[in-house]
Amino acid sequence: SNIFFRPIEKINAVIESYPKGIAGFKRYLEIIDTEPDIADAKDAVDVASLQGNIRFDGVDFGYEPGRNILSGIDLSIKSGETIAFVGPSGAGKTTICSLLPRFYDVNEGKITIDGIDIRDMTLQSLRKHIGIVQQDVFLFSGSIRENIAYGNLDATEEQIWEAARRASLEEMIRQQPEGMDTIIGERGVKLSGGQKQRMSIARMFLKNPPILILDEATSALDTETEAAIQKSLAELSVGRTTLVIAHRLTTIKNADRIVVVDENGIAEQGGHQELVNSGGIYSRLHHAQYQYS
Ligand code: ATP
Repeated sequence: SNIFFRPIEKINAVIESYPKGIAGFKRYLEIIDTEPDIADAKDAVDVASLQGNIRFDGVDFGYEPGRNILSGIDLSIKSGETIAFVGPSGAGKTTICSLLPRFYDVNEGKITIDGIDIRDMTLQSLRKHIGIVQQDVFLFSGSIRENIAYGNLDATEEQIWEAARRASLEEMIRQQPEGMDTIIGERGVKLSGGQKQRMSIARMFLKNPPILILDEATSALDTETEAAIQKSLAELSVGRTTLVIAHRLTTIKNADRIVVVDENGIAEQGGHQELVNSGGIYSRLHHAQYQYS
């Protein structure tokens, strides 16, 4: 589900001003040049704030003409709700989530947030309200402080530490000889997969968007790291509309609602126990010890 990797760099580059002169700046510009034909409508509006009530209304989408991946998707997500998308690999979970920040536009139907068609919002304001957390987070060669502050360049030192703490990064940072000033990336310390994910979570605490997309890692982390990340993610998602491309059973069980996606679209939805009891696809997957990936 790595289609988010390049888009997230784009999204950050497009919506946030960046410190001049930081290493990697040139790379952002190259990435912006590859932005597909998604553009603001002529009369697009800047939306100052959003509650995060999301609706997919008869959405069709395919990457190639004549081959729909999604057809007739109807889905309502209430502000503050956490939805776990599960289903077989290739069913379209990532694709559904990537339509929300308009990495791609729908072919038919519409997606609204708080009743506003997302194509009627400026891309910048739409994406300002959506945070994406994923394993393949984009880190540039700069200090830990700069990399966290990338979530909100106006953040104070205190806010940066607070974000680091909530993302379970504080201890690791304090252990570095140069603390927050430690350079990461090619010339500095190499971060583990779990630490990178936590950097991405710290950024999101600073960005503070009403809507979150969590692309859960499929690769295994050690149990302690996994638990720390789960805890930080749970804290991050409080009060935000959260869409999780879920791979972990704990995440799925803790979601307010599970949406099962298969090759025909949304097959069923409901709570864990409800779906297990109903004897449908989810219950078969569950009983077969299906890996939810
Ligand atoms: P996984 O659990 O493996 O991440 P998924 O349910 O998230 O799977 P998607 O990544 O949304 O599934 O993929 C849905 C379908 O769209 C697949 O057939 C995939 O090959 C195809 N697809 C995904 N991204 C692209 C792309 N950028 N261009 C063309 N086809 C794509």
